[in-house]
Amino acid sequence: MGDLLKAVCRCGYQSGELAHGYGFSSGRDGSFYTIGYCETCSIVDTVDGREATPTCEHCHEAVQIYRAAVSQSGADNGFADADDLTEKRDWHCPKCKQPTLTFQTIGLWD
Ligand SMILES: [Zn+2]
Ligand SMILES: [Zn+2]
Repeated sequence: MGDLLKAVCRCGYQSGELAHGYGFSSGRDGSFYTIGYCETCSIVDTVDGREATPTCEHCHEAVQIYRAAVSQSGADNGFADADDLTEKRDWHCPKCKQPTLTFQTIGLWD
C-alpha cells in the first residue's frame, strides 16, 4: 500500500495522480513506485522504482527521480518517501525549472 500524491507548482503546473510506495503484493515480485520528472516533457510522473535507469514513457529519455537529501525514514534506497515529498517545499519543477514544486497527499492506494 502506498500514497497517492499530486505535484503542484506556483507556475500553475499540476500533475495527475501519482502512486508512491509498494504495491499490494510487495515482496518477490511486488511493485514499487516512486516519483520523478522528465525535463524533456516537462512532467512529473510515477516511476517504476525497480528499474535501474527508468525512462520516460512518452519520450524515452532518462527520468530524474526525486531523492531525499537526508533520509528521515532510514530508507536505504535514497528515494524520497511520501513524508519527504510532502514536507519539503522546494522540489524542482520540470515545467518552470524553478525549485517551487510541492507535493500534496490526495489519498491511499493498495
Ligand atoms: Zn519525457
Ligand atoms: Zn513550476
